[in-house]
Amino acid sequence: MRWTLSPDDLPTAWFNVAPYMPGPLEPPLHPGTREPVGPDDLAPLFPMALISQEMSTTPTIDIPGPVLDVLRLWRPTPLVRATRLEETLGTPARIYYKDESVSPAGSHKPNTAVPQAYYNKAEGIERLATETGAGQWGSALSFASSVFGLECMVYMVRASYEQKPYRRILMETWGGRVVPSPVDDPDHPGSLGSAISDAVRDAAGRKDSHYSLGSVLNHVLLHQTVIGLEAKQQLQLAGERLPDVVIGSCGGGSNLGGISLPFVPDEGVRLLAVEPASCPTLTGGRFEYDFGDTAGLTPLLPMYTLGHDFVPPPIHAGGLRYHGDSPIISALVKAGRMEAVAYPQSKVFEAGLQFARTQGSVPAPETAHAIRAAIDEALAAKERGEERVILFNYSGHGLLDLSAYDDFLHGRLES
Ligand SMILES: *Cc1c(COP(=O)(O)O)cnc(C)c1O
Repeated sequence: MRWTLSPDDLPTAWFNVAPYMPGPLEPPLHPGTREPVGPDDLAPLFPMALISQEMSTTPTIDIPGPVLDVLRLWRPTPLVRATRLEETLGTPARIYYKDESVSPAGSHKPNTAVPQAYYNKAEGIERLATETGAGQWGSALSFASSVFGLECMVYMVRASYEQKPYRRILMETWGGRVVPSPVDDPDHPGSLGSAISDAVRDAAGRKDSHYSLGSVLNHVLLHQTVIGLEAKQQLQLAGERLPDVVIGSCGGGSNLGGISLPFVPDEGVRLLAVEPASCPTLTGGRFEYDFGDTAGLTPLLPMYTLGHDFVPPPIHAGGLRYHGDSPIISALVKAGRMEAVAYPQSKVFEAGLQFARTQGSVPAPETAHAIRAAIDEALAAKERGEERVILFNYSGHGLLDLSAYDDFLHGRLES
């Protein structure tokens, strides 16, 4: 029911999907000139190592030893077969999930926070600025910064800053400094897009500082591929060849990319992105160049977008409230290599609850999106009498999201 690898089985190289993409990725464009950005344009914000990973087309990239040493604090993560959920559903499908909730911050996000902090430190940077919605990314980067002795400055969406104190406390416990965003308008509830603007402005204005992004960019998805690489080894241990479908929730695309990109070359493996119906970037957005932030300070990225001034309704899955999406994920969806589906919040919490009451663990609301889709795949397999192998990413636990479950359990949740 549960397959664990030894610390020595941790992958020592990341998987770069670039050579396996249906076509070459279109380049990011400079926000002023609309010309393709070069390494020099990005140098005020990112270390050279990450800029070269962003543009790399080599199939694998070695993971530095000091990064492996930190990842081994919790990796490899377990692969679990959800047999109790299968029994409840009465499905012939076999449902496996990769448990990324065992990291210090409780999600997949430290997989990229650690290498990002490492490369910045190695290039002489002393301080990182970033944004966070509900606090998942801010807590991962605060943890990674503390490991490598960097200062961490987090701009937190004001509505979450005021309503969700526990992630702020976690960030401060790891030594991060947290301020509500937007900084220049204390009456505004904020959004991820405007918090990114605050963090980019901060980092661009100081020599000792860089900016760090927790999703969307190519190098972030690259760092997350340890998830899918481990899962491939573990499925073999479980006696499976390849899954029929690989599922992940999708905000900016990092946990989905992490579990699914290593399967892109495997023909016949379906890949499935799951997003909220209230922020339907892949299922309802347009594919075009757009800014990553509200103020228009970031390069223009080729992606599915709802428009950089789109402010999603305040649903509980804060990590999925982003107007855009990873260019890699967007290109895979546009080419038909990946599918996308959107669910309303109530259906998602129903699935989260069913998971908690069968498997025990309480999933993050973001993760419950992937669970919803996995359950629906298992029910479709039952209807057709198929033995489907389903793999999904358990991107994080919901132990700091209990007020959302409280709302659902007591009928206060908006669909
Ligand atoms: C941030 C987050 C997400 C969404 O972000 P992606 O970059 O799309 O993965 C999903 N699940 C959890 C637990 C998160 O913290």
